[in-house]
Amino acid sequence: MKRVGKLALAAGAVAGGVALKRALEPEPRYEVWERRPFRDFEKKVLIVGGGFGGYTAAKELCRLTERREDVGVMVVSRENYFTFWPMLAGIISSGIESRNVAQPIRRALIRHGASFRRAELEAVDPQQQTVRASAATIPYDHLVLALGASPAYFGIPGVEEHAISIRGISAGEEIRNRVIERYEETTLARGEVPDSKLTFVVIGGGATGVETAAELHTLVRKTLAPDYPNIDPRRVRIVLVDANPEVLKEIDPSLRKLARKKLAQLDVEVRNNVRAREITAEKVVLNDGTEILSENVIWTAGSRASESLANLPFDHDERRGLATDACLRVRGYTNVWGIGDCAANTSSDGSPVPPNAQAAVQMGRAVARNVLAALDGREPEPFTYRSAGQLVEIGSEYAVNDVMGLKFSGLLASLFWRATYLYKLESPQSRLRIGLDWFLDLFTDPAVTQIRR
Ligand SMILES: Cc1cc2nc3c(=O)[nH]c(=O)nc-3n(C[C@H](O)[C@H](O)[C@H](O)COP(=O)(O)OP(=O)(O)OC[C@H]3O[C@@H](n4cnc5c(N)ncnc54)[C@H](O)[C@@H]3O)c2cc1C
Repeated sequence: MKRVGKLALAAGAVAGGVALKRALEPEPRYEVWERRPFRDFEKKVLIVGGGFGGYTAAKELCRLTERREDVGVMVVSRENYFTFWPMLAGIISSGIESRNVAQPIRRALIRHGASFRRAELEAVDPQQQTVRASAATIPYDHLVLALGASPAYFGIPGVEEHAISIRGISAGEEIRNRVIERYEETTLARGEVPDSKLTFVVIGGGATGVETAAELHTLVRKTLAPDYPNIDPRRVRIVLVDANPEVLKEIDPSLRKLARKKLAQLDVEVRNNVRAREITAEKVVLNDGTEILSENVIWTAGSRASESLANLPFDHDERRGLATDACLRVRGYTNVWGIGDCAANTSSDGSPVPPNAQAAVQMGRAVARNVLAALDGREPEPFTYRSAGQLVEIGSEYAVNDVMGLKFSGLLASLFWRATYLYKLESPQSRLRIGLDWFLDLFTDPAVTQIRR
């Protein structure tokens, strides 16, 4: 009786709170206000690609032209969100929800003062100064191309057909669903399945491959273990195949060594100095003649500049992207710019700019200043890349970080990784939700569902 009374009191308090909130809150008003159409601006800056580079460029241009009436900014992008790539691997273990990795951009851009169209770039006509996207024709005075990267398969037979490649947010879900699918098959067959069903091969020992292998470990050993008590998680084999002598070749050797040790602790089998020669539905054939029997292959071994460049009339190298000058202008044009992973930019010291998020963000800011300089008849400035270091998370409680020359690893590094990327997320809601999920994970294991498409 006492308990019923308490419950009734709690329910009453909640109902009262909701009623009070409703009474005090004004009716939401959704005003339709007349926005000035992009084509009516005297100076039109069109940005194609709403990822790290394009979104930053738009935001910065809006900030710099806040008090001006003559400059209009529009972003055209394939999706109405930008993928926060550094957190993508977290989707695999369910540590991070997909919707939080997809950072909404439409409302954010409108609030900054830009226009947005969700459309696929089809063609550019530099003479007419127009872009065709999803059958619409959009004029520009300055065009910024920020189309990102596409996976590279190096002509290896079977990769596209049989491997999951990290093309977008859906890849994180696909990998997780694949593991669940194999677990369901194993349960139905009372464990009588070939080892190839429970062997997961990650190809590529860069940061994405290492993070993917570690997240697979967390999924299998932690997240799914309570759901499948009849499957011994040690039966699952995770193999990381890397063409280099060591994984994470881009980071400091001391951190590489720690990463290798951590992967060994996680029972990730690392195979260095080998390349995949062929992938079939049942196995991976390596160039040293060995074979790994596996029906689950994940491809993280290469990327190249966006495939969309092939349809454009601009000089480019298939792998590194648009040919640009020191000020980020596309070769042969004074009003077309290339930034981020789709452009072969060099820093002012002549070194190539690496394809990473911090470089794309820095180029986004630089191109905004340069476009404005060009619009106002000033000289644009050469771009200088400044590396702030590198952070690689290996599982949920370990990371190896190099921050401005300071190298550290372990739990503290993992907390630093989390704090940094939470701060860098664009959406405050995602920041809050991810932070809350991480906090709850200290007390409970995330539950996993398989939403089949
Ligand atoms: C799994 C993964 C993890 C990563 N982790 C890190 C990390 O931890 N740290 C780090 O610094 N970097 C990381 N990177 C690299 C980093 O994310 C990229 O270097 C960065 O996103 C490049 O920015 P961008 O603007 O050039 O491209 P993107 O951010 O990819 O944006 C490209 C945009 O162009 C749009 N687009 C493409 N083609 C078209 C078209 N035809 N029409 C319309 N729109 C189009 C896309 O929808 C997208 O919005 C990671 C990359 C991956 C794949």
